[in-house]
Amino acid sequence: MTRTLTALAALAVACLATAAEAQMRQPQGPALMVRAGNLFDSEAGRMVGPRDLLIRGELVVEVGQGLAVPDGAVVVDLSRCSVLPGLIDGHTHILMEQAQGQPLSQVAAIDAGIEGDALRALSGAKRGREYLDAGFTTIRDLGNSGRFLDLQLSRGFAEGRVPGPRLYGSGPGLAPAGGQMEPLPHDPHHLVGAEYRIVTGPDDARAAVREAVAAGAWVIKVYPEATPQRTRLSVAELEAVVDEARRHGVPVAAHATSDAAIREAVMAGVTSIEHGYEVSDETLRLMARKGVYLVPTDPSLEMAQEFSAGWTPRPPVAEIEGMLAGPRERFARAHRIGVPIAMGSDLYMPYGPGRGHGSRATLTAYVESGMTPAEALQTATWNAGRMIGDDRLGVLRPRSFADLIALPLDPTQHLDALKDVRLVMRGGRVEKLDLERVCGG
Ligand SMILES: [Zn+2]
Repeated sequence: MTRTLTALAALAVACLATAAEAQMRQPQGPALMVRAGNLFDSEAGRMVGPRDLLIRGELVVEVGQGLAVPDGAVVVDLSRCSVLPGLIDGHTHILMEQAQGQPLSQVAAIDAGIEGDALRALSGAKRGREYLDAGFTTIRDLGNSGRFLDLQLSRGFAEGRVPGPRLYGSGPGLAPAGGQMEPLPHDPHHLVGAEYRIVTGPDDARAAVREAVAAGAWVIKVYPEATPQRTRLSVAELEAVVDEARRHGVPVAAHATSDAAIREAVMAGVTSIEHGYEVSDETLRLMARKGVYLVPTDPSLEMAQEFSAGWTPRPPVAEIEGMLAGPRERFARAHRIGVPIAMGSDLYMPYGPGRGHGSRATLTAYVESGMTPAEALQTATWNAGRMIGDDRLGVLRPRSFADLIALPLDPTQHLDALKDVRLVMRGGRVEKLDLERVCGG
């Protein structure tokens, strides 16, 4: 083939690709008209009354009042319901479960050596269903997921092989020596390396970011410190992680609990601080100035009671309240100082009501710490969507994902309304529907 012909052929292929791409970006598929009785505006943080949402394919096309129903569109009558964007849990571990008191190395040994990836993925799929049922249509999964099993599960959910939420995964977290395992003098089966990407210098930190990006990670998870280990990443390693992630347009989530580690991560330019239990006011002010998110993985009273149900003797409520005082106090300080807050449950323990219910209960923890219900709902919609960095998430407006939930009661009045999710839609597809009575009609 001559050079001209080759060039023409290449151009033709390019044009085809462009046309196909443009077509893919156009909302396609049958139209749905959702008549919402009372819609939550996640950006403003309030219910705005009745709204119609025209949905085509997986996207919202139009939002307004009294919209005309296009020919052939199916009408979904939610006129007696409160309708919100599908909820987002900004910190999950869908592929891990650790019983209280169980060493992490034992969990890893079971996952890697006894159960294996297939069984582990099936457990993850089951939890995915639990998130959907509780109204969580998106999760940001932050490691403890083997070698990129999270990204494979994400694809399985996206392709509809099994039902599940949108999963924005990190792959193995970038950690200092030992990861989060208890010190292991002998690790013949490389359990640490099976769950963490151990970083050994700034250049290696950059390589680790590229490995994650190449595997399809949406976010880089980094451990500036990794208790119960005493090891820490150097500032140069942290800066290399953040700089390389920025070059690739990927946000960075930093696990940090001590004020010193939080401060180093914030100075390095991470997107979010996970946990942040011991953060000082000074560091919180820096976070507010730089727009760094705090993801407070705090249990509510309901969750703490569930976790301690098996203890003997069972602790009285006053004792549990005492244990929750520290996290609540730091939450209130962060909120008062104006740090952006995104919801994350960090639930990796067995939880009777199911993972999604733990995520819902985490929102109640935020109200127990001083937020209004509407503010708490924003942390799991608008704020979490902005933190993940996908404009289509956490909001219902033209070109956003048609991810929504419908409830009989108004959750901005009381978060208990979230205990009764009657309809869950993900990308225009109904994933859960209480056929009996959609909203008490
Ligand atoms: Zn976590």
